[in-house]
Amino acid sequence: MNICVVGTGYVGLVTGAVFADLGNDVICVDNALKKIEALRAGQMPIYEPGLEEMVARNKDDGRLTFSTDLPAGVRQADVIFIAVGTPPKETGETDLSQVEAVAAEIGRSMDRYKVVVNKSTVPVGTGEFVREVITRHQPRPLDFDVVSNPEFLREGSAIEDTLRPDRIVIGAPNQQVAMTLVELYAPLERPMIITDLPSAEVIKYASNSFLAAKISFINAIANICEAAGADVSQVMKGMGLDSRIGMQFLQAGLGYGGSCFPKDVDSLIHTASQLGYDFKLLRSVVEINKERAAHLVEMMRKAMGPLEDKTIAVLGLAFKPNTDDMREAPSRRLLEQLWEAGANVRAFDPEATAEAKRLYGDRIDIKLCDEAYAALEGADALVIITEWKAFWSPDFARIRSILRTPVIFDGRNIYEPVAVENAGIAYYGIARGRSVSAGSPQ
Ligand code: NAD
Repeated sequence: MNICVVGTGYVGLVTGAVFADLGNDVICVDNALKKIEALRAGQMPIYEPGLEEMVARNKDDGRLTFSTDLPAGVRQADVIFIAVGTPPKETGETDLSQVEAVAAEIGRSMDRYKVVVNKSTVPVGTGEFVREVITRHQPRPLDFDVVSNPEFLREGSAIEDTLRPDRIVIGAPNQQVAMTLVELYAPLERPMIITDLPSAEVIKYASNSFLAAKISFINAIANICEAAGADVSQVMKGMGLDSRIGMQFLQAGLGYGGSCFPKDVDSLIHTASQLGYDFKLLRSVVEINKERAAHLVEMMRKAMGPLEDKTIAVLGLAFKPNTDDMREAPSRRLLEQLWEAGANVRAFDPEATAEAKRLYGDRIDIKLCDEAYAALEGADALVIITEWKAFWSPDFARIRSILRTPVIFDGRNIYEPVAVENAGIAYYGIARGRSVSAGSPQ
Protein backbone atom coordinates (compact mmCIF):
# COMPACT_ATOMS: atom_id res chain seq x y z
CA MET A 1 0.00 0.00 0.00
CA ASN A 2 1.13 3.57 -0.63
CA ILE A 3 1.01 5.43 2.65
CA CYS A 4 1.67 9.02 3.67
CA VAL A 5 2.16 9.73 7.38
CA VAL A 6 1.87 13.42 8.25
CA GLY A 7 3.76 14.43 11.38
CA THR A 8 7.05 12.73 12.13
CA GLY A 9 6.98 12.78 15.93
CA TYR A 10 6.78 9.86 18.35
CA VAL A 11 3.62 8.50 16.75
CA GLY A 12 4.15 9.39 13.08
CA LEU A 13 7.76 8.26 12.82
CA VAL A 14 7.17 4.95 14.59
CA THR A 15 3.97 4.29 12.60
CA GLY A 16 5.73 5.11 9.34
CA ALA A 17 8.72 2.90 10.17
CA VAL A 18 6.51 -0.06 11.18
CA PHE A 19 4.27 0.21 8.10
CA ALA A 20 7.40 0.30 5.90
CA ASP A 21 8.77 -2.71 7.79
CA LEU A 22 5.55 -4.55 6.92
CA GLY A 23 6.36 -3.99 3.23
CA ASN A 24 4.40 -0.81 2.44
CA ASP A 25 5.77 2.24 0.62
CA VAL A 26 5.74 5.03 3.17
CA ILE A 27 6.45 8.72 2.85
CA CYS A 28 6.78 10.52 6.19
CA VAL A 29 6.00 14.23 5.91
CA ASP A 30 6.77 16.92 8.44
CA ASN A 31 6.82 20.71 8.16
CA ALA A 32 9.88 20.89 10.41
CA LEU A 33 12.64 21.03 7.78
CA LYS A 34 15.43 20.32 10.29
CA LYS A 35 13.70 17.13 11.42
CA ILE A 36 13.33 15.89 7.86
CA GLU A 37 16.94 16.77 7.00
CA ALA A 38 18.14 14.93 10.11
CA LEU A 39 16.03 11.87 9.27
CA ARG A 40 17.38 11.84 5.74
CA ALA A 41 20.88 11.89 7.26
CA GLY A 42 19.95 8.92 9.48
CA GLN A 43 19.65 10.91 12.73
CA MET A 44 16.64 10.23 14.96
CA PRO A 45 14.83 13.30 16.36
CA ILE A 46 13.70 11.24 19.38
CA TYR A 47 15.07 8.42 21.50
CA GLU A 48 13.07 5.22 21.09
CA PRO A 49 14.53 1.73 21.50
CA GLY A 50 14.86 -0.08 18.13
CA LEU A 51 13.71 2.90 16.06
CA GLU A 52 17.03 3.89 14.52
CA GLU A 53 17.69 0.38 13.18
CA MET A 54 14.17 0.02 11.78
CA VAL A 55 14.28 3.41 10.07
CA ALA A 56 17.75 2.73 8.61
CA ARG A 57 16.74 -0.70 7.31
CA ASN A 58 13.63 0.55 5.51
CA LYS A 59 15.27 3.75 4.28
CA ASP A 60 18.07 1.71 2.73
CA ASP A 61 15.53 -0.63 1.11
CA GLY A 62 13.75 2.40 -0.40
CA ARG A 63 10.40 1.76 1.33
CA LEU A 64 10.67 4.72 3.72
CA THR A 65 11.28 8.30 2.58
CA PHE A 66 11.11 11.68 4.32
CA SER A 67 9.77 14.92 2.91
CA THR A 68 8.40 18.35 3.73
CA ASP A 69 6.23 18.27 0.59
CA LEU A 70 2.74 17.40 1.84
CA PRO A 71 0.95 17.86 -1.52
CA ALA A 72 3.34 15.37 -3.18
CA GLY A 73 2.87 12.97 -0.25
CA VAL A 74 -0.91 13.22 -0.55
CA ARG A 75 -0.84 12.56 -4.31
CA GLN A 76 1.38 9.48 -3.95
CA ALA A 77 -0.67 7.88 -1.18
CA ASP A 78 -3.82 5.77 -1.06
CA VAL A 79 -4.02 6.12 2.70
CA ILE A 80 -2.97 9.28 4.57
CA PHE A 81 -2.38 9.14 8.32
CA ILE A 82 -2.63 12.38 10.28
CA ALA A 83 -0.23 12.10 13.25
CA VAL A 84 0.42 15.74 14.11
CA GLY A 85 0.32 17.22 17.59
CA THR A 86 -2.94 18.02 19.38
CA PRO A 87 -1.70 20.13 22.29
CA PRO A 88 -3.97 21.57 24.97
CA LYS A 89 -5.21 25.13 25.07
CA GLU A 90 -5.28 27.03 28.38
CA THR A 91 -8.87 25.90 28.91
CA GLY A 92 -8.02 22.21 28.53
CA GLU A 93 -9.70 22.18 25.13
CA THR A 94 -7.70 20.40 22.40
CA ASP A 95 -5.98 22.69 19.92
CA LEU A 96 -6.86 21.21 16.54
CA SER A 97 -5.02 23.81 14.46
CA GLN A 98 -2.31 21.36 13.27
CA VAL A 99 -4.94 18.79 12.29
CA GLU A 100 -6.95 21.49 10.54
CA ALA A 101 -3.91 22.76 8.59
CA VAL A 102 -3.12 19.24 7.40
CA ALA A 103 -6.75 18.51 6.48
CA ALA A 104 -6.92 21.74 4.46
CA GLU A 105 -3.75 20.82 2.56
CA ILE A 106 -5.08 17.30 1.91
CA GLY A 107 -8.23 18.87 0.47
CA ARG A 108 -6.22 21.22 -1.75
CA SER A 109 -3.84 18.50 -3.00
CA MET A 110 -6.18 15.55 -3.52
CA ASP A 111 -6.21 14.17 -7.05
CA ARG A 112 -8.29 10.99 -6.53
CA TYR A 113 -10.09 8.95 -3.84
CA LYS A 114 -8.15 8.79 -0.54
CA VAL A 115 -8.62 7.29 2.89
CA VAL A 116 -7.71 9.88 5.52
CA VAL A 117 -6.94 8.38 8.91
CA ASN A 118 -6.89 10.37 12.16
CA LYS A 119 -4.18 8.82 14.29
CA SER A 120 -3.69 11.94 16.39
CA THR A 121 -5.66 11.91 19.63
CA VAL A 122 -8.65 14.10 18.87
CA PRO A 123 -11.94 14.82 20.67
CA VAL A 124 -15.11 13.07 19.60
CA GLY A 125 -16.52 14.83 16.56
CA THR A 126 -13.13 15.62 15.00
CA GLY A 127 -13.60 13.04 12.23
CA GLU A 128 -16.61 15.02 11.10
CA PHE A 129 -14.61 18.26 11.39
CA VAL A 130 -11.77 16.84 9.25
CA ARG A 131 -14.31 15.75 6.61
CA GLU A 132 -15.76 19.26 6.55
CA VAL A 133 -12.31 20.97 6.30
CA ILE A 134 -11.14 18.69 3.46
CA THR A 135 -14.39 19.22 1.52
CA ARG A 136 -14.18 23.00 1.97
CA HIS A 137 -10.63 23.11 0.51
CA GLN A 138 -11.14 20.81 -2.47
CA PRO A 139 -10.81 22.71 -5.74
CA ARG A 140 -13.29 20.20 -7.22
CA PRO A 141 -15.39 17.55 -5.44
CA LEU A 142 -13.54 14.25 -5.05
CA ASP A 143 -14.65 11.29 -2.97
CA PHE A 144 -12.74 10.41 0.21
CA ASP A 145 -13.33 8.76 3.57
CA VAL A 146 -12.23 9.72 7.07
CA VAL A 147 -11.34 7.01 9.57
CA SER A 148 -10.40 7.18 13.25
CA ASN A 149 -7.52 4.90 14.23
CA PRO A 150 -6.34 6.12 17.63
CA GLU A 151 -2.84 5.27 18.77
CA PHE A 152 -2.06 3.55 22.08
CA LEU A 153 1.73 3.24 21.86
CA ARG A 154 3.79 4.17 24.89
CA GLU A 155 6.95 6.19 24.56
CA GLY A 156 9.89 4.01 25.50
CA SER A 157 8.34 0.89 24.00
CA ALA A 158 6.75 2.47 20.95
CA ILE A 159 8.09 0.01 18.37
CA GLU A 160 7.10 -3.02 20.43
CA ASP A 161 3.65 -1.52 21.14
CA THR A 162 3.08 -0.78 17.46
CA LEU A 163 4.11 -4.27 16.41
CA ARG A 164 2.12 -5.97 19.20
CA PRO A 165 -0.71 -3.67 20.31
CA ASP A 166 -3.33 -5.07 22.74
CA ARG A 167 -5.93 -3.99 20.20
CA ILE A 168 -6.27 -1.98 17.02
CA VAL A 169 -9.26 0.36 16.99
CA ILE A 170 -10.76 1.27 13.63
CA GLY A 171 -13.63 3.73 13.56
CA ALA A 172 -14.93 3.85 9.99
CA PRO A 173 -18.00 5.17 8.21
CA ASN A 174 -18.57 1.89 6.36
CA GLN A 175 -17.33 -1.72 6.18
CA GLN A 176 -15.47 -1.24 2.90
CA VAL A 177 -13.18 1.52 4.16
CA ALA A 178 -12.69 -0.34 7.46
CA MET A 179 -11.39 -3.27 5.39
CA THR A 180 -8.60 -1.07 3.94
CA LEU A 181 -7.27 -0.59 7.46
CA VAL A 182 -7.89 -4.21 8.41
CA GLU A 183 -5.79 -5.27 5.41
CA LEU A 184 -3.01 -2.89 6.38
CA TYR A 185 -2.88 -4.17 9.98
CA ALA A 186 -3.56 -7.85 9.17
CA PRO A 187 0.14 -8.89 9.21
CA LEU A 188 0.36 -7.92 12.89
CA GLU A 189 -2.26 -10.56 13.77
CA ARG A 190 -3.67 -8.56 16.67
CA PRO A 191 -7.28 -8.12 17.90
CA MET A 192 -9.17 -5.42 16.02
CA ILE A 193 -12.23 -3.45 17.09
CA ILE A 194 -14.17 -2.17 14.12
CA THR A 195 -16.62 0.48 15.12
CA ASP A 196 -18.08 3.84 14.15
CA LEU A 197 -16.01 6.99 14.16
CA PRO A 198 -17.25 8.71 17.35
CA SER A 199 -16.93 5.50 19.38
CA ALA A 200 -13.30 5.07 18.26
CA GLU A 201 -12.56 8.67 19.24
CA VAL A 202 -14.07 8.14 22.69
CA ILE A 203 -12.21 4.84 23.24
CA LYS A 204 -8.86 6.65 23.20
CA TYR A 205 -9.82 9.31 25.76
CA ALA A 206 -11.70 6.86 27.95
CA SER A 207 -8.66 4.55 28.04
CA ASN A 208 -6.11 7.22 28.95
CA SER A 209 -8.41 8.83 31.49
CA PHE A 210 -9.09 5.48 33.13
CA LEU A 211 -5.34 4.82 33.49
CA ALA A 212 -4.79 8.32 34.89
CA ALA A 213 -7.63 7.70 37.34
CA LYS A 214 -5.94 4.48 38.47
CA ILE A 215 -2.73 6.42 39.21
CA SER A 216 -4.53 9.15 41.13
CA PHE A 217 -6.55 6.52 42.99
CA ILE A 218 -3.45 4.78 44.34
CA ASN A 219 -1.89 8.14 45.18
CA ALA A 220 -5.00 9.02 47.19
CA ILE A 221 -4.72 5.63 48.91
CA ALA A 222 -1.02 6.48 49.57
CA ASN A 223 -2.14 9.60 51.42
CA ILE A 224 -4.35 7.46 53.64
CA CYS A 225 -1.55 4.91 54.15
CA GLU A 226 0.83 7.68 55.15
CA ALA A 227 -1.58 8.98 57.77
CA ALA A 228 -2.39 5.48 59.06
CA GLY A 229 1.10 3.96 58.97
CA ALA A 230 0.25 1.44 56.23
CA ASP A 231 2.61 0.48 53.41
CA VAL A 232 1.10 1.41 50.04
CA SER A 233 3.43 -0.94 48.16
CA GLN A 234 1.85 -3.87 50.09
CA VAL A 235 -1.63 -2.45 49.56
CA MET A 236 -0.90 -2.16 45.85
CA LYS A 237 0.18 -5.82 45.65
CA GLY A 238 -2.86 -6.94 47.60
CA MET A 239 -5.12 -5.01 45.25
CA GLY A 240 -3.27 -5.70 42.03
CA LEU A 241 -3.26 -9.48 42.39
CA ASP A 242 -7.03 -9.31 41.99
CA SER A 243 -7.33 -10.08 38.29
CA ARG A 244 -10.19 -7.58 38.01
CA ILE A 245 -7.80 -4.81 39.11
CA GLY A 246 -4.27 -5.70 37.94
CA MET A 247 -0.92 -4.27 39.04
CA GLN A 248 -0.35 -1.87 36.17
CA PHE A 249 -0.70 1.87 36.79
CA LEU A 250 -1.05 1.17 40.49
CA GLN A 251 2.34 2.48 41.67
CA ALA A 252 2.09 5.33 44.13
CA GLY A 253 4.53 8.12 43.43
CA LEU A 254 4.81 11.51 41.86
CA GLY A 255 1.79 11.08 39.62
CA TYR A 256 1.34 10.96 35.89
CA GLY A 257 2.88 13.28 33.32
CA GLY A 258 3.98 13.24 29.72
CA SER A 259 2.50 14.52 26.53
CA CYS A 260 -0.70 12.43 26.69
CA PHE A 261 -2.34 11.75 30.06
CA PRO A 262 -2.52 15.35 31.35
CA LYS A 263 -3.85 16.80 28.11
CA ASP A 264 -6.16 13.89 27.35
CA VAL A 265 -7.76 13.99 30.79
CA ASP A 266 -8.21 17.77 30.51
CA SER A 267 -9.63 17.37 27.04
CA LEU A 268 -12.20 14.78 28.13
CA ILE A 269 -13.28 17.01 31.02
CA HIS A 270 -13.70 19.83 28.50
CA THR A 271 -15.57 17.70 25.97
CA ALA A 272 -17.85 16.37 28.72
CA SER A 273 -18.69 19.88 29.84
CA GLN A 274 -19.38 20.93 26.23
CA LEU A 275 -21.77 18.00 26.02
CA GLY A 276 -23.47 19.07 29.27
CA TYR A 277 -21.82 16.65 31.70
CA ASP A 278 -19.69 17.72 34.65
CA PHE A 279 -17.02 14.97 34.88
CA LYS A 280 -16.37 15.46 38.62
CA LEU A 281 -14.45 12.20 38.92
CA LEU A 282 -11.85 13.30 36.38
CA ARG A 283 -11.57 16.76 37.91
CA SER A 284 -10.53 15.05 41.16
CA VAL A 285 -8.05 12.88 39.27
CA VAL A 286 -6.35 16.06 38.04
CA GLU A 287 -6.38 17.69 41.49
CA ILE A 288 -4.82 14.66 43.18
CA ASN A 289 -2.14 14.50 40.48
CA LYS A 290 -1.24 18.17 40.85
CA GLU A 291 -0.62 17.75 44.58
CA ARG A 292 2.05 15.07 44.22
CA ALA A 293 5.18 17.21 43.67
CA ALA A 294 4.23 19.61 46.49
CA HIS A 295 3.63 16.60 48.71
CA LEU A 296 7.18 15.30 48.18
CA VAL A 297 8.73 18.73 48.70
CA GLU A 298 6.75 19.04 51.94
CA MET A 299 8.11 15.64 53.02
CA MET A 300 11.62 16.94 52.30
CA ARG A 301 11.01 20.09 54.29
CA LYS A 302 9.77 18.10 57.27
CA ALA A 303 12.86 15.90 57.17
CA MET A 304 15.52 18.47 56.27
CA GLY A 305 14.16 21.81 57.47
CA PRO A 306 14.10 24.81 55.11
CA LEU A 307 15.40 23.93 51.65
CA GLU A 308 16.92 27.34 51.03
CA ASP A 309 20.52 27.00 49.81
CA LYS A 310 20.32 23.21 50.09
CA THR A 311 21.67 21.19 47.16
CA ILE A 312 19.38 18.44 45.97
CA ALA A 313 20.53 15.61 43.70
CA VAL A 314 17.79 14.59 41.30
CA LEU A 315 17.89 11.29 39.44
CA GLY A 316 15.49 11.09 36.50
CA LEU A 317 14.06 13.95 34.49
CA ALA A 318 12.12 12.21 31.69
CA PHE A 319 8.41 11.80 32.44
CA LYS A 320 8.98 8.03 32.56
CA PRO A 321 11.83 5.59 31.87
CA ASN A 322 13.11 4.81 28.36
CA THR A 323 12.24 8.15 26.84
CA ASP A 324 13.84 11.58 26.53
CA ASP A 325 10.43 13.28 26.69
CA MET A 326 10.03 15.87 29.45
CA ARG A 327 6.66 17.25 28.37
CA GLU A 328 4.54 17.70 31.54
CA ALA A 329 7.08 15.57 33.41
CA PRO A 330 6.61 15.33 37.20
CA SER A 331 10.32 16.32 37.41
CA ARG A 332 9.44 19.75 36.06
CA ARG A 333 6.82 20.36 38.74
CA LEU A 334 9.29 19.19 41.38
CA LEU A 335 12.17 21.32 40.04
CA GLU A 336 9.95 24.41 40.05
CA GLN A 337 9.01 23.75 43.67
CA LEU A 338 12.62 23.15 44.73
CA TRP A 339 13.74 26.37 43.05
CA GLU A 340 10.86 28.24 44.63
CA ALA A 341 12.06 26.97 48.02
CA GLY A 342 15.56 28.33 47.25
CA ALA A 343 17.28 24.97 46.62
CA ASN A 344 19.94 24.24 44.03
CA VAL A 345 19.70 21.11 41.91
CA ARG A 346 22.23 18.66 40.49
CA ALA A 347 20.50 16.33 38.05
CA PHE A 348 21.11 13.31 35.87
CA ASP A 349 18.92 11.46 33.38
CA PRO A 350 20.15 8.68 31.06
CA GLU A 351 18.41 10.17 28.00
CA ALA A 352 16.75 13.51 28.78
CA THR A 353 19.84 15.62 29.52
CA ALA A 354 19.78 17.32 26.10
CA GLU A 355 16.11 18.16 26.55
CA ALA A 356 16.79 19.45 30.08
CA LYS A 357 19.60 21.62 28.67
CA ARG A 358 17.18 23.04 26.11
CA LEU A 359 14.65 23.82 28.87
CA TYR A 360 16.92 24.93 31.71
CA GLY A 361 20.34 25.52 30.14
CA ASP A 362 20.44 29.18 31.13
CA ARG A 363 19.51 28.65 34.80
CA ILE A 364 22.25 28.84 37.42
CA ASP A 365 20.35 26.79 40.01
CA ILE A 366 20.64 23.51 38.09
CA LYS A 367 23.74 21.57 37.13
CA LEU A 368 23.13 18.80 34.62
CA CYS A 369 25.57 15.97 35.20
CA ASP A 370 26.88 13.31 32.80
CA GLU A 371 26.63 10.50 35.27
CA ALA A 372 24.38 9.49 38.21
CA TYR A 373 27.01 9.52 40.98
CA ALA A 374 28.34 12.88 39.78
CA ALA A 375 24.91 14.37 40.54
CA LEU A 376 25.32 13.37 44.20
CA GLU A 377 28.52 15.31 44.80
CA GLY A 378 28.04 17.84 47.59
CA ALA A 379 24.29 17.19 47.71
CA ASP A 380 22.24 17.34 50.91
CA ALA A 381 19.78 14.71 49.68
CA LEU A 382 19.02 12.45 46.76
CA VAL A 383 15.58 12.40 45.16
CA ILE A 384 14.47 9.66 42.78
CA ILE A 385 12.02 11.08 40.24
CA THR A 386 12.01 8.66 37.29
CA GLU A 387 12.34 4.93 37.86
CA TRP A 388 14.99 4.20 35.18
CA LYS A 389 16.27 0.61 35.56
CA ALA A 390 19.78 2.07 35.90
CA PHE A 391 18.77 3.54 39.29
CA TRP A 392 17.27 0.37 40.79
CA SER A 393 20.38 -1.33 42.15
CA PRO A 394 22.87 1.36 43.10
CA ASP A 395 25.93 1.01 45.29
CA PHE A 396 24.39 2.40 48.51
CA ALA A 397 27.77 2.54 50.26
CA ARG A 398 29.04 4.75 47.44
CA ILE A 399 25.93 6.93 47.65
CA ARG A 400 26.47 7.29 51.40
CA SER A 401 30.08 8.31 50.92
CA ILE A 402 29.30 10.92 48.24
CA LEU A 403 26.22 12.64 49.69
CA ARG A 404 26.90 15.45 52.16
CA THR A 405 23.94 14.17 54.22
CA PRO A 406 22.94 10.56 53.57
CA VAL A 407 19.22 10.76 52.84
CA ILE A 408 17.13 9.44 49.97
CA PHE A 409 13.65 10.59 49.01
CA ASP A 410 12.34 7.82 46.84
CA GLY A 411 9.59 9.39 44.74
CA ARG A 412 8.91 6.10 42.97
CA ASN A 413 9.28 3.57 45.81
CA ILE A 414 11.98 1.66 43.94
CA TYR A 415 14.12 0.80 46.99
CA GLU A 416 13.62 -1.53 49.90
CA PRO A 417 13.63 0.82 52.90
CA VAL A 418 15.54 -1.69 55.03
CA ALA A 419 18.33 -2.07 52.44
CA VAL A 420 18.81 1.69 52.28
CA GLU A 421 18.73 2.14 56.04
CA ASN A 422 21.15 -0.76 56.56
CA ALA A 423 23.58 1.19 54.39
CA GLY A 424 23.36 4.07 56.84
CA ILE A 425 21.12 6.24 54.69
CA ALA A 426 17.84 7.72 55.91
CA TYR A 427 14.99 6.62 53.65
CA TYR A 428 11.77 8.42 52.81
CA GLY A 429 9.45 6.78 50.32
CA ILE A 430 5.83 7.31 49.41
CA ALA A 431 3.72 5.81 52.21
CA ARG A 432 6.06 2.93 53.08
CA GLY A 433 4.52 2.26 56.46
CA ARG A 434 5.65 2.18 60.06
CA SER A 435 8.71 0.05 59.39
CA VAL A 436 10.42 3.07 57.88
CA SER A 437 12.23 5.45 60.20
CA ALA A 438 10.79 8.90 60.12
CA GLY A 439 13.81 10.23 61.93
CA SER A 440 15.95 13.02 60.61
CA PRO A 441 18.94 12.24 58.38
CA GLN A 442 22.16 11.45 60.14
P1 NAD B 1 5.02 15.22 18.25
O1 NAD B 1 4.88 16.62 18.71
O2 NAD B 1 6.18 14.40 18.70
O3 NAD B 1 4.99 15.18 16.66
C1 NAD B 1 4.09 15.91 15.89
C2 NAD B 1 4.80 16.26 14.60
O4 NAD B 1 3.86 16.88 13.72
C3 NAD B 1 5.95 17.24 14.76
O5 NAD B 1 7.13 16.70 14.22
C4 NAD B 1 5.49 18.48 13.98
O6 NAD B 1 6.56 19.17 13.36
C5 NAD B 1 4.56 17.86 12.97
N1 NAD B 1 3.60 18.80 12.37
C6 NAD B 1 2.84 19.73 12.98
N2 NAD B 1 2.09 20.40 12.08
C7 NAD B 1 2.38 19.88 10.87
C8 NAD B 1 1.94 20.15 9.56
N3 NAD B 1 1.05 21.10 9.31
N4 NAD B 1 2.48 19.42 8.55
C9 NAD B 1 3.39 18.46 8.79
N5 NAD B 1 3.84 18.15 10.02
C10 NAD B 1 3.34 18.85 11.05
O7 NAD B 1 3.65 14.50 18.66
P2 NAD B 1 3.42 12.97 19.03
O8 NAD B 1 3.85 12.71 20.44
O9 NAD B 1 3.92 12.10 17.94
O10 NAD B 1 1.82 12.93 19.06
C11 NAD B 1 1.06 13.03 17.88
C12 NAD B 1 -0.38 12.71 18.21
O11 NAD B 1 -0.48 11.35 18.68
C13 NAD B 1 -0.99 13.57 19.30
O12 NAD B 1 -2.35 13.75 19.04
C14 NAD B 1 -0.83 12.71 20.55
O13 NAD B 1 -1.79 13.01 21.52
C15 NAD B 1 -1.06 11.33 19.98
N6 NAD B 1 -0.41 10.24 20.74
C16 NAD B 1 0.85 10.39 21.22
C17 NAD B 1 1.45 9.35 21.91
C18 NAD B 1 2.81 9.51 22.50
O14 NAD B 1 3.19 8.65 23.32
N7 NAD B 1 3.59 10.52 22.13
C19 NAD B 1 0.76 8.14 22.09
C20 NAD B 1 -0.52 8.00 21.54
C21 NAD B 1 -1.09 9.06 20.87
